[in-house]
Amino acid sequence: MSVVIIGAGVVGLAAAYELGKRGHKVVLLEKDTYGQGPSHGNAALVTGVLSFPVPAPGSVGVAAKSLLKSGQAITLVPQFSPAYAAFLLRMALATRKHPFAVGTMAQDILTVKVLETFDEYAKDGLVFESHERGSMHVFNNQAEFEAGMSVFEPFADIRSRVVGLETAEAVHEVDPALAAGISYGYYAKTDRQVEPESLMKALVAAIKKQGGELVEHAEVLDFVAKNGKVSAVVTTAGVYEAEQVVIAAGVGSRKLAGMLGFSLPQYSGGGYSVDVHYADYEAGPHTSVLTSASHIAVTPLDWGLRASSGMIIGQRYPEVKPRLIAKLLSDLKATYPGVPLDDVEPGWAGLRPMSADGVPVIGLVPGLSNAYLATGHAMLGLTYAPATAKVLAESMEAERPLAAYELLSPSRFKLRK
Ligand SMILES: Cc1cc2nc3c(=O)[nH]c(=O)nc-3n(C[C@H](O)[C@H](O)[C@H](O)COP(=O)(O)OP(=O)(O)OC[C@H]3O[C@@H](n4cnc5c(N)ncnc54)[C@H](O)[C@@H]3O)c2cc1C
Repeated sequence: MSVVIIGAGVVGLAAAYELGKRGHKVVLLEKDTYGQGPSHGNAALVTGVLSFPVPAPGSVGVAAKSLLKSGQAITLVPQFSPAYAAFLLRMALATRKHPFAVGTMAQDILTVKVLETFDEYAKDGLVFESHERGSMHVFNNQAEFEAGMSVFEPFADIRSRVVGLETAEAVHEVDPALAAGISYGYYAKTDRQVEPESLMKALVAAIKKQGGELVEHAEVLDFVAKNGKVSAVVTTAGVYEAEQVVIAAGVGSRKLAGMLGFSLPQYSGGGYSVDVHYADYEAGPHTSVLTSASHIAVTPLDWGLRASSGMIIGQRYPEVKPRLIAKLLSDLKATYPGVPLDDVEPGWAGLRPMSADGVPVIGLVPGLSNAYLATGHAMLGLTYAPATAKVLAESMEAERPLAAYELLSPSRFKLRK
């Protein structure tokens, strides 16, 4: 089949690669140049362990507090539109115990495929920066640690994938460079670090080798659709006929889905990062670390580390705020006192695509028989991109919704309307 994919972020690229590998003809349309959105400067963590969506029990209170007080894990940007209000309401409902459990099970469909899909890339000969250094959530005191571990309670299988660390010695055995006061954590040994730019570069080269076409500076403006089928995609660079269409346009997906008559409950979750270069590996993180107190993620890479933070729901444009970057560096120093901060890149910011229930949205656009969505990956788009591509390709080849992937399907929003 011939497939037009909209959006050359990590998800669109992974989809193009998978479909090309299966012998399908692929055209990838990108309004800018590939990989410039959140796919570029993300925290570079690939987890094959954790499956918790962002709207978790308790997160509504945290988000609500952000309207009054800065420094919260989740910040809400007010927007005055009924669609945004409905989205926030859905997000609030998703934090209840049962929907959170369903969301976690849905994400786990992807999580269990993560390591094998990245291994497959390596076997295919894709060359990109990857490390197997695990990840650790760290806590400063027992109360925070117990609150962190309580999330696992209903999920024995996910709990069995991490090791609880209840002493400072155990934490520092995993990462000796961490600040002395950090005394609790849980460790996911099989988690990885994947430098996203190197991965996307490898995917683009492989897609071209397969005969796929990447068309940059081609913004999708409209669709030609009739009788429940899209026949062409209208762009600033011309009209592309399509047998099958995939919308993998990150935060741009809501607008595109709207053109096809589907109201996708998805807004942005802004975040930011900063790269710190240094030569002495021992001074910095030995694993990827997520801190409970300051809400930062730190990942060791070949040239030093990337630190990131922020979950700014409803942010319209990515914005690098010097105040937030300064705070991020100060939190980094408090976490890794030995890291030298004399070679720091300018900050970066990006908008994650956040579905209302925090779970990726993969499958047929309701009401259409040949247009698919692959978006809503929130904090885990790099992690889930290759697994998403598998789910998508299997669904497209089956030419019908697959029961195994129902929890990921866009129609879950339609049904609960
Ligand atoms: C600070 C931060 C840290 C993160 N850390 C991690 C992490 O450690 N691990 C992890 O797994 N994930 C992480 N993420 C999340 C991850 O980066 C995203 O989920 C992922 O990049 C989303 O990829 P995407 O391809 O769906 O979207 P995007 O990267 O946004 O790509 C979509 C593309 O579509 C294009 N587009 C949009 N509209 C149109 C149109 N009309 N026509 C043509 N093209 C269009 C855009 O230009 C863009 O290139 C992080 C994100 C942030 C911001």
